[in-house]
Amino acid sequence: MRIDLHAHSNASDGTDTPAELVAAAVHAGLDVVALTDHDTVAGHAEAAAALRALPEGSLTLVTGAELSCRVEGISMHLLAYLFDPEEPALAQERELVRTDRFRRGEAIVERCRALGAPISWDQVRRIAGGGAVGRPHIASALVEAGVVATVSDAFTPEWLANGGRADVQKHELDPVEAVRLVRAAGGVPVFAHPGAVKRGRTVPDRVIAELAAAGLAGLEVDHMDHDEETRVRLRGLASDLGLLVTGSSDYHGTRKTVRLGEHTTDPAVYEELIGQATGAKPIPA
Ligand code: AMP
Ligand code: FE
Ligand code: FE
Ligand code: ZN
Repeated sequence: MRIDLHAHSNASDGTDTPAELVAAAVHAGLDVVALTDHDTVAGHAEAAAALRALPEGSLTLVTGAELSCRVEGISMHLLAYLFDPEEPALAQERELVRTDRFRRGEAIVERCRALGAPISWDQVRRIAGGGAVGRPHIASALVEAGVVATVSDAFTPEWLANGGRADVQKHELDPVEAVRLVRAAGGVPVFAHPGAVKRGRTVPDRVIAELAAAGLAGLEVDHMDHDEETRVRLRGLASDLGLLVTGSSDYHGTRKTVRLGEHTTDPAVYEELIGQATGAKPIPA
């Protein structure tokens, strides 16, 4: 079983349509793929429809989202699996974050322009194509304009990195609250890339312990942004706090270099995760 529990489509900052993502998952030899767009479930219906056209048993879709959170001034991402997408309290929080992504995106574009980058808000909206707007779309605009060579080159202090010259904060959820909301919607919360130091300061263990007490199910340990030492440390922390350990690619299509299925989750952990979910069921082909 090859299980990848973190992937993005163009419903947020990935470059594949949800249907293309499903096809790519089959091509990568995955048995299970989770669609976890930032703060939105807008890609679920198309992904589920694409699955219906596949041979029986070829792939299972886990629906989810990656929720933008902030604690003690540190931005962090919470993966949420198999929650009820109609549950109003969580749906409203996703909507608040998505709406603020527009205000903030336009403000970031203004800062980039003031810093001499010839990009525009219309261009960024075209690149986002109706998906939840994020810094990677602005990074793509900076690439189009010839300001930087690659998307990842835009995530520096000069431009879009956390706290960078053109960075503007968006509305983000308190993660303890988010963990409770996800559980209340029948979902299963997992802390995404908790040791991704290249993105900025990371959340202290003390806060992770608080999240565990609030209902966090697991830590995403095997991730491209974690070196071996970080993985060993996080496995120890997960064991101390009674948390599951997952692995996933965080695939973003051509906006990141990582391949779908580059990191995977143990089948026993997957079974435990889906066993905890009451808001939705995995969708088999
Ligand atoms: P936002 O959700 O708009 O705050 O943007 C965060 C997104 O930017 C993350 O989900 C990643 O897709 C992307 N990102 C963050 N740091 C980097 C980086 N160093 N290189 C490439 N992409 C990044
Ligand atoms: Fe992203
Ligand atoms: Fe993330
Ligand atoms: Zn992600």
